[in-house]
This record gives sequence, structure tokens and C-alpha cells, in this order.
Amino acid sequence: MIDVMKEQLHSYLHENGFKDFDLKAVLFDMDGVLYDSMKHHARSWYETMTEAGYECTSEEFYLHEGRTGASTINLLTERCFNRPATNDEVKSLYARKSELFTRYNNGDVIPYAPEMLNKVKADGLECVLVTGSGQKSLLDRLEQNFRGIFSYNKMVTAFDVKHGKPSPEPYLMGLEKAGHLKPNQAIVVENAPMGVQAASAAGIFTIALTTGPIAPEVLSEAGANIVLPSMQALFNAWEDYLPEFKKSV
Ligand code: MG
Repeated sequence: MIDVMKEQLHSYLHENGFKDFDLKAVLFDMDGVLYDSMKHHARSWYETMTEAGYECTSEEFYLHEGRTGASTINLLTERCFNRPATNDEVKSLYARKSELFTRYNNGDVIPYAPEMLNKVKADGLECVLVTGSGQKSLLDRLEQNFRGIFSYNKMVTAFDVKHGKPSPEPYLMGLEKAGHLKPNQAIVVENAPMGVQAASAAGIFTIALTTGPIAPEVLSEAGANIVLPSMQALFNAWEDYLPEFKKSV
């Protein structure tokens, strides 16, 4: 595993024109990385959209993950009705989805997420949250579940960005908030193809976790440098990975 990582790191540096890696921060996505919330998102979206007369499947929302709510609603409206969504539709559909999500979501954290965050922090690295989510029910819980990890000025949420993932904007803003970092001074932990694309477009080394039904190949194709089966796998590999992110290649 460490050989794969070394190889990936080497080609990352080569492709992005950096001569070394100088890790200062880890940028964490939220849904499906810190919270086991994707199944509740998928169910809430599916119910919201089908009750409004849209044709969709609950699985597709795993693939839309990372988009802003407005972008997801627009995409489905274009597909189902051949027109953009009105502002009123965006507002009411997103409100309904949020209402259902708040009802279904139980706030379960991904196993080993708290341990991983504590480890990264203990290593003297900055932890930055980069999410397309504007779900207050989860954002408000962060401090409760991951005490002392994320400060409010070190978060990028739906309220900060104009373009959601797959635009690189959220991750570029994450680098800024982490302390005006360059892409080779951070890594991203993601679970969604769109999030991986965003991180990769921002030029950041990306570790994808398969915490949902998405196949590892889909995440590799989206641009993930490494794909691991769980947060626990990353936690276990971290001691081996960290020195590699700190030394010149
Ligand atoms: Mg996610």
C-alpha cells in the first residue's frame, strides 16, 4: 500500500510541477467522510423530488453529492422538464429536502472519523472542513462530535461559495482559509466523484474513501490519487503516509 502511495505522490508532484510536498493541512469533506449521512441525503432527495413529480432514483443522489442544492435541483429540472428551475422551486424543494433530512438524519459519525481528526491535529496539521452542504443540522453538530477541531473561520460551506463542487472553488477557498496554502501543502479526503473532481481541479492530492455504494474505479476516474475502503484504513495507514507528505521526493 505504501508503495502505491509513493508512486502516486511522485506522479502527482511531476504532473503538477511541484518538486516537493510540504503538508500543512488536511481538507475534509463532511457528508460520507465525517458523517454517515449520505443514505439520509439520498432518501430525502428521492422523496422530495418524486413527490414533486420528478423521475429519479435514490442512487443517483450519491453521484450528485457535492453539488449545491440549487445545482442538483436545476440539473433534475433540466433533465425532467427541459427548463431551468425557478427560484421559487429551488427554494421550496430545498426546504422540503432539508426538512426530510433533519427528520431522517441520526447524526451517526463515520467510524474512526473523530480518531483521524484528532491524529491529524496532534500531528500539528490544520483541519479544514470543505463541504457543499448548507444543512444547519449537521454543521451545528460539528463541535459536539469533533470537539476543538474545526474553527468557524476554517470552514467552507454552501454559504461561502458561488460554485459548488465539481468547481475547484470550494477547495481553493479551503487552501486560502487554511493559511494561504499552495496545493502541494494540503491533501483532501473525499468520498464523492464530484468532490474528487473539485479537489483534483484545484490541484490537490486527493484520498478518496469508499464509504457508500460508489465503486473505487469511479473515484479513480474522477481523479483520486488514492482510494481506500474506509476511514479506518486511512487511520491505519496514516503513520506510513505522513512522512511521505513531509519530505522532498
Ligand atoms: Mg461527501
